[in-house]
Amino acid sequence: MTYSVQFGSLWPSIRIGLLSEQKYGALFNNFSNIEQVTKELEHLNAVDFIRESQKVVQDLDSTAAQQASEPAMSTGTLLVPAESQPQPLPSLSTLLSPNIKCYTFPKGDISLFPPARPDTLGILGYYLLDAASVLPVLALNMQPGDLVLDLCAAPGGKMLALLQTGCCRELAANDISTSRTGRLNGILRSYIPKNICDLVRVTSWDGRKWGDLEANTYDRVLVDVPCTNDRHSVMEEDNNIFKNMRKGERQMLPMRQLELLVAGILAAKPGGVVVYSTCSLSQLQNEYVVERAMELLSIQYNISVHVEDLSSFQRLFEDTFYFFPNCRLGELVLPHLLANFGPTYFCKLHRLG
Ligand code: SAM
Repeated sequence: MTYSVQFGSLWPSIRIGLLSEQKYGALFNNFSNIEQVTKELEHLNAVDFIRESQKVVQDLDSTAAQQASEPAMSTGTLLVPAESQPQPLPSLSTLLSPNIKCYTFPKGDISLFPPARPDTLGILGYYLLDAASVLPVLALNMQPGDLVLDLCAAPGGKMLALLQTGCCRELAANDISTSRTGRLNGILRSYIPKNICDLVRVTSWDGRKWGDLEANTYDRVLVDVPCTNDRHSVMEEDNNIFKNMRKGERQMLPMRQLELLVAGILAAKPGGVVVYSTCSLSQLQNEYVVERAMELLSIQYNISVHVEDLSSFQRLFEDTFYFFPNCRLGELVLPHLLANFGPTYFCKLHRLG
């Protein structure tokens, strides 16, 4: 009932997507045998959707160059209004974290990836995850030497993507659940060589307290909060957050998300970047949490936060994902039968002071 109001005529299609088999992406492990794994994935006819986005940039650049070289106007020529001409995209190095590769099958292709196999050193070649969950990590625009905090890190797909960038001077990977941090350690053992694992500090603290523990410290912070996990919730009875016995917890979710986001922003250095993400469609857990956090930080801490416009992500990745066209803040990938990823909401914030 809530989502049919929020999404109007888009809702029946989103709903069918949620009720159908999810699509996966293969997050490439740069610490494995690169040549062998590339061959394996290309043999399946999967493509690295991030590398494909570079073609979008090249196409836009060549269209812009062509238009610039054409005569300005000749009699009888219809001029294209400036706003409908393709606008240049910012360079990818100012937009995306580097070195992340994620293979997907094209829109409409519902092939499955086989499980990854260990190479001769026992390292796995790729990690299967919802490909849209790589977008928040790409949006962090990591830079070499960054000090990074992953506040709610388990089971660890995004942590693995953060490490693929090769940019982490240190990575604090935290999750309140000790059983889930066990899974984080499992991923580190299966995918990451020992010398890189030494850059990672795994903790099991309440992330809401991080602003008191390590304020003004990190260059990049990922706040991937617990949420209603909509795709899981429509399909799984087990531990479903919409069960009556979890009503209180569900009602408190936006408050918990707000506390985590505020803690993440306080943990960032002034000038640092924070990405907030969920796997929910709910405005209450997405944009509203971001807005309340900005308000609270301004009133209680005199800290200003700027939200970056990420609409260029829609253009870069439109061949792979369906984006909701009307997000006020941040971006939302919608489930769709032809590209059944998401939901993934992500919003990029700059801590100004
Ligand atoms: N980032 C993870 C990944 O990519 O695999 C997924 C994170 S999951 C959406 C949310 C996580 O938040 C859960 O593992 C949960 O245990 C953790 N969590 C919930 N409350 C927390 C808190 N107060 N502090 C830290 N972690 C918390």
